[in-house]
Amino acid sequence: MELQDFTIKQINKCLKEKKFSAKELANAYFDKIKNTDKDIDAYLNLTQDLALSQAEAVDQKISNGEEIPTLAGVPCSIKDNILVKDEKCSAASKMLENYIASYDSSVIKKLKEQGAIILGKTNLDEFAFGSSCENSAFKVTKNPHDLTCVAGGSSGGSAAAVASNQCCFALGTDTGCSVRTPASFCGVLGLKTTYGSVSRSGVIASASSLDQVGPLAKSVEDIEIIFNAISGKDILDATSVEYKYEKFIENNKPLTIGIPKEFFAEGINKDVEKIVKEAIFKIEDQGFKIQEISLPSSKYALACYYIIQTSEASSNLARFDGIRYGLSKQNENDLLDFYLSNRAGGFGAESKRRIMLGTYSLSSGYYDAYYKKAQEIRQLVKQDFKKAFEKVDLIMSPVVPFPAFKIGSKVNDPLSMYLADIYTVPVNLAGLPALSLPVGKTNGLPVGLQIIANHFEENKILSIASIIEKLV
Ligand code: GLN
Repeated sequence: MELQDFTIKQINKCLKEKKFSAKELANAYFDKIKNTDKDIDAYLNLTQDLALSQAEAVDQKISNGEEIPTLAGVPCSIKDNILVKDEKCSAASKMLENYIASYDSSVIKKLKEQGAIILGKTNLDEFAFGSSCENSAFKVTKNPHDLTCVAGGSSGGSAAAVASNQCCFALGTDTGCSVRTPASFCGVLGLKTTYGSVSRSGVIASASSLDQVGPLAKSVEDIEIIFNAISGKDILDATSVEYKYEKFIENNKPLTIGIPKEFFAEGINKDVEKIVKEAIFKIEDQGFKIQEISLPSSKYALACYYIIQTSEASSNLARFDGIRYGLSKQNENDLLDFYLSNRAGGFGAESKRRIMLGTYSLSSGYYDAYYKKAQEIRQLVKQDFKKAFEKVDLIMSPVVPFPAFKIGSKVNDPLSMYLADIYTVPVNLAGLPALSLPVGKTNGLPVGLQIIANHFEENKILSIASIIEKLV
């Protein structure tokens, strides 16, 4: 077993027993990154000085005989749309290529307080727009299981870094799929947290009513520790809520699991369907009740999501004008020229597409037909889940209808790329939590099971996931 296989609790134990120091561990991870990231391209930027000074502080505490928190000395990587003070934060966009964060995001403040070691910033689709990590302005992250395939997106760098042992855990963000899809493609766990459970302060906004930060890791126990550390009310994010994670205590009544028939319909890859169903059968064998359910409005969810997402994205991207933030070209003729050339040069194709689609949906002539309609559909999607959770405790489905695809195979067809999100976006529209848990492989590529729960019931998800984790 190499050092990089250790779980959070194992690292904590070894540090306390002085089997290795936090600095030695951080350096072992940097060596691993140096040896493997030429092929994988998970990182945009390493934060070596920060990591080593954090590690020294943890080592000092240990040698002083002080208590250390569970995350102290644990090396992690951070998606490059989450601000880390004094470090670059590009959102994988030319627009922010040289932007240095002037403050820590609230999740980073929490991780730093706990002594987690930040190794670097990971690649993503520009502004988290995408499902494959191919929309980054800088590089395409490869899937560690097959370097010719995508790592998934938008938190592809974070998922690939965890999967290739380049960090112990990572943070990503999920607006419509972005923690779960790359987790599923790379064979690691990824938790999309309940909307409001984790602060978004200091996270570069993609679509504010959908975005959530979530952890990626290699075990249920690690996911639980990280979620516990980053969740809770933050006065800097008005949408965050008072919330304390507590372990789920099973009573005598076995949990009931709903299987949405719409999520196993036409178009799903047969191997993915088989692997996911086998995992569900295994759970049934353990005495859990399985019940077919219907989420009838889910067929509208993708269209509804891409109206709401692009509307909010177009409005969030308005701040990048080259004056307040972003690429700033000189010597333009007038103010309009200045804005136009900054935005034309700073944004990539997908960002421009979203600005155009979103501006159109929000324009006075089309607002009622598109944006308002999408908000109405969003309510229907929410109601479907509400009704389902009156009957069942959890919902299970595949994460993506297919495994990781070849790099380049969908880049010229945005619609087919959007279809990858068909099972994940309903969860964001409803603000629910969901986990991607690896349950098998097809042709060497991992397949994830999606476990969805009612709001703030991450504990139920993690309780059942820890059972499945041992069965597959
Ligand atoms: N694939 C979705 C999109 O492109 C979701 C991305 C995300 O969750 N950030 O919008």
